[in-house]
Amino acid sequence: MLIKCPECGKENISNQAVACPKCGYPLKAATIEATGKRYKGRQVMGALAIVVGFILIVTDHFAIGVVLLILGLFDIIMGYVGAWWHHG
Ligand SMILES: [Zn+2]
Repeated sequence: MLIKCPECGKENISNQAVACPKCGYPLKAATIEATGKRYKGRQVMGALAIVVGFILIVTDHFAIGVVLLILGLFDIIMGYVGAWWHHG
């Protein structure tokens, strides 16, 4: 796949390239950082789902609360596994 350098705008750089051949911008690091943010976002969403799930359970909406708790836990676990997997 070919990408565009986010720093100098040079096009048709391989996404396997470690850095931009024109300006030397570190492309691999940028990719890892973006991946990390994506999984962080997923963990935040999971934490929110757990909080909302608890609120629903204590306000007598047990079934939907449990579903949210499970989904939240799943998101957090997937966030950890995904971040670990992508960082190697
Ligand atoms: Zn560049």
